[in-house]
Amino acid sequence: MENILFKNIQDNINSVLEEIISAAKIAGRDPSEIKLMAVTKTKPLEYAEAAYKAGIKLLGENRVQEMEEKYSSFHSDAEIHLIGHLQRNKVKKAIAVACSIDSIDKYETAEELSKCCKALGKDISILLEYNTSGEQSKNGFSSEKELFESIDKIRNLENLNIKGLMTIAPFTDDEKAIRGSFRMLANLFRKIEASHPDLKIDTLSMGMSSDFKIAIEEGSNIIRIGTRLFGSRN
Ligand SMILES: *Cc1c(COP(=O)(O)O)cnc(C)c1O
Repeated sequence: MENILFKNIQDNINSVLEEIISAAKIAGRDPSEIKLMAVTKTKPLEYAEAAYKAGIKLLGENRVQEMEEKYSSFHSDAEIHLIGHLQRNKVKKAIAVACSIDSIDKYETAEELSKCCKALGKDISILLEYNTSGEQSKNGFSSEKELFESIDKIRNLENLNIKGLMTIAPFTDDEKAIRGSFRMLANLFRKIEASHPDLKIDTLSMGMSSDFKIAIEEGSNIIRIGTRLFGSRN
């Protein structure tokens, strides 16, 4: 049973890796600059173990509680990222497990994160989440002005490394809308790179199971894949 699960997940990983390579080629990019994050939310630990065994060290969870249950004593060389909304009262729990919070959407959360990291004497990476779809249900900074003002405050907080940006495309079949969303994030990324060269941002996290090829064409270097690796969620 366990071997069948491993074999399935390994096959799924390999086919996604092949698609990353072909999407990168189409875009004239080097595939080795694109990382595959396995998103294990709602799936049991065995699934995460299988992905790890198949060579995936970058894992994403979207809820703090579930991340803690699954990953508090996982392989020490795995990189666990929180990709879902972080509430201030869960910051301490989150930093005990995650090496990166990819969903910072307010200054206040970053401030609390900085305070808790400082108390523990540890540094953490962060991505700023931007709401490129304009959908009310989505988190993230929602205007360029808000994003840039927040960067100027967040960058002064101790123990935090701003690594880049993250977004979720709109839920639609409209490829143009999806591409527009990714392109908007890539443009913001370039703007920050140009105006804040000292930050040395290097991460553009965008693209999920249904839209990662478009994201790669638009410059993504972390794609976050759940369904294509582990099957659909209930
Ligand atoms: C669930 C989730 C994913 C993965 O979605 P799939 O469509 O299953 O690949 C990626 N990013 C975030 C932020 C998520 O919450």
